Amino acid sequence: MEQKATEVNRFTDIFKTLKANQYKVANTSAKQRIAKLKTLKNALEVDYKQAIREALQKDLNKPYLETDLTEIYPVIKEIKYASKHLKSWMKNQPVDTPLALLGASSWIKYEPKGVCLIMAPWNFPVNLLLVPLVSAIASGNTVVLKPSEMTAHASQVLKQIIETVFSSDEIVLVEGGIEESQDLLKLPFNHIFFTGSPAVGKIVMRAASEHLTSVTLELGGKSPSIIHESANLKDVVKKTVFGKFLNSGQTCIAPDYMLVHESIKEEFVSVFKETVAKFYSENPEASHSYCRVINGKHHQRLLDHLEDAKQRGAKIEIGGQENAKENYLAPTLVLDVPLEATLMQDEIFGPILPVLTFKTLNDILEIVNSKDKPLALYIFSKNRAFIKQVINTTRAGGTCINHNLIHFLNNNLPFGGSNHSGLGKSHGKFGFEAFSNPRAVMKQHTMGALDLLYPPYTNLKQKLIDLTLKWF
Ligand code: NAD
Repeated sequence: MEQKATEVNRFTDIFKTLKANQYKVANTSAKQRIAKLKTLKNALEVDYKQAIREALQKDLNKPYLETDLTEIYPVIKEIKYASKHLKSWMKNQPVDTPLALLGASSWIKYEPKGVCLIMAPWNFPVNLLLVPLVSAIASGNTVVLKPSEMTAHASQVLKQIIETVFSSDEIVLVEGGIEESQDLLKLPFNHIFFTGSPAVGKIVMRAASEHLTSVTLELGGKSPSIIHESANLKDVVKKTVFGKFLNSGQTCIAPDYMLVHESIKEEFVSVFKETVAKFYSENPEASHSYCRVINGKHHQRLLDHLEDAKQRGAKIEIGGQENAKENYLAPTLVLDVPLEATLMQDEIFGPILPVLTFKTLNDILEIVNSKDKPLALYIFSKNRAFIKQVINTTRAGGTCINHNLIHFLNNNLPFGGSNHSGLGKSHGKFGFEAFSNPRAVMKQHTMGALDLLYPPYTNLKQKLIDLTLKWF
């Protein structure tokens, strides 16, 4: 079965080369892996920094500062963190052995999964391809990287970086679109790390099941942001405008919709208006700090959402201006959006923010818990009891209290969703574990208790078992 799948595939040779080299890479020391990570770090910080900035400006009109902060910095940070901890992660982890198994010792050996596939989306094409790569290298795997076809300039620079920094029997970048992705998915990888939409996540999982390949799925969803009446509104709005309109709202953990206490709705809207103007000027189209939507198809998808909401009685309070030639859509705030509107059904993934109101915790739960578990859930409040109640009665991949997005940047926290928003975790030790198999190893040193129980079974042996059941 496995043989057949590799024979008909255009990527068979790449796969075979990586597979043949996997044990050599697996047996590299922490020092050797850290040296590889440092070369990648140097390429990002020095040799290719400007090329990355220019590529992303072409692909998404991404400001240089945003590229530095959200594309390059997280990879550098991941490299530094992994380099600092790798030696201890790679060490065998001793664990207790039960008394009934006297005479043995036990430990966990983190071994690399083998040949891994990393598939990335277009919204943060450098970050979301290379952060998982850092974990895959740290764990000692060989890797095929598949960037998104939608950010062609970034993809070309990434290819140059990978070909310069790594040997082709260790890490290979394959460019291409859906057909290439589908061919790659037919191969018997040992692990697939996919970042993208829940719809494609299902395709990936289905393909992976053919080879019983393990998967990490980093998906999306509708991440709510809940604003309690005790919150400091100026602070909430600053963080929300930044968190939502960074990358023009094309961020998997951007607040997707707001749930604002009804007593502060008017003030929220008025501060929001001021803040958008302050951040992006009265004409955000001319602002150097504001991105574009990735392409015409997504631009139209967002306009369709707005039209649908308007038809259902929603009101565009801020923004709504657009320029199809440039895929520009202004930062947009929409009020009175009914729950049946497509804006409240699908992940928005663009610069449109619906504002809903609540009176009680139950109002919040009725909306949030009627949807799939989100990737993130944000709570702005000074009321500790309220924060605790929200956390205890909802589910989400991650939560920030009195902020949004920043949990992504803490390598000590697991990053990822739950069910529809994702399977498995990444970043730091969690990323290392995603690309590793925790192999259980047990060594018998002396005669063990089990030696006393071999057949033929006697009354004495039955008594020993009775004692074991009772006491050990
Ligand atoms: P996508 O699922 O359309 O594409 C992701 C990757 O899958 C690309 O490399 C693409 O080539 C490939 N692909 C697309 N269609 C395919 C098919 N039919 N068969 C096989 N492969 C296919 O996602 P996108 O539009 O690039 O990104 C947006 C989505 O990603 C949003 O849902 C967002 O929330 C999610 N996302 C999640 C995270 C996270 O960390 N959890 C980060 C960024 C984006």
